[in-house]
Amino acid sequence: MYDLTIIGGGPAGLTAAIYAARGGLKTVVLESMMPGGQAANAERIDNYPGFPQGISGFELANAFYQQAMNLGAEFIFEQVTNMDLTEKIKKVHTNERTIECRAVIIAAGSQPRTIGAKGEDVFQGRGVSYCATCDGAFFKDKKVAVVGGGNPALEEAEYLSKFASEVTVINPRKQFRAAETTLEKARNNTKIKFISENVVEEIQGQDRVENLLLRHVKTNEKNNLAIDGVFVYLGTKPNTKFAAAYCQTDEKGYIITDELLRTNVEGVYAAGDIRNTPLRQVATAVGDGALAAVQVEKYLSAQS
Ligand SMILES: Cc1cc2nc3c(=O)[nH]c(=O)nc-3n(C[C@H](O)[C@H](O)[C@H](O)COP(=O)(O)OP(=O)(O)OC[C@H]3O[C@@H](n4cnc5c(N)ncnc54)[C@H](O)[C@@H]3O)c2cc1C
Repeated sequence: MYDLTIIGGGPAGLTAAIYAARGGLKTVVLESMMPGGQAANAERIDNYPGFPQGISGFELANAFYQQAMNLGAEFIFEQVTNMDLTEKIKKVHTNERTIECRAVIIAAGSQPRTIGAKGEDVFQGRGVSYCATCDGAFFKDKKVAVVGGGNPALEEAEYLSKFASEVTVINPRKQFRAAETTLEKARNNTKIKFISENVVEEIQGQDRVENLLLRHVKTNEKNNLAIDGVFVYLGTKPNTKFAAAYCQTDEKGYIITDELLRTNVEGVYAAGDIRNTPLRQVATAVGDGALAAVQVEKYLSAQS
């Protein structure tokens, strides 16, 4: 029996683990992949306080993880498949086991949205990628496309230009939804080209990606773009499948919390990117993790 189960070992879950374990709660973190969440995939994080020269996402995430372990949080690397939150003692299920606990923090974050184009599934890992940091180096001197029009798309295009001979940013909209400084940097990079108001209809190739079939969103005109790889940055969707039966969500599927990060279920809190928050960043996820853990401490001491 644990005091607290934290679902997800990203910045929110790891910070909650640091606070909860330090506060004396018997705490377990369930993580389906590697600790660090999406932050671990960020090539470089320049906007997390305390690192004037920036820090690699992997390094920062690993430091969070080490700190949580040093303070006594336990880690189990299994995927949460379901929960039973009907009783005071909550049950969290993975394929391997059931964990019983007195409180839960859901910090399972989000995952990349797919394009939904024909061929996207087929070519995953064979030219279609959602992580430039993970796969960018495979495209040395090759032509790649980045799909998206926000900050992550432009930042990753910049990163990919270190390897690729040419990076084409395909923006479904007319305008970019990115910070002016990021946009300016991308515009000044001679390796980066832009195609606006186009969507990817189909990803084509033999064994690997060779071509994108593009469609203009207004004229419906179709064009081919010969390419070796495509990196998708169209935002994210929350990982709430295992919680959907219990926790109220907004129209986009993000878990609704109050200002103390309580969900509609007593003793269950949500933190970080998975909840309905106006900003999804490492700094806000960390703040959420701290607040949720402190609220759990208060909730549990009121119970005993
Ligand atoms: C490429 C990229 C670059 C970024 N750059 C920056 C930046 O420069 N600055 C910045 O502040 N932010 C940046 N971000 C955003 C930042 O990474 C996120 O806001 C932050 O990681 C959210 O933390 P989180 O803990 O809420 O969720 P996540 O980081 O998404 O972590 C959630 C964790 O839960 C796990 N999980 C999911 N489902 C389950 C399940 N069923 N069972 C068990 N575990 C599960 C996942 O494997 C994951 O490890 C970037 C994101 C990306 C993708």
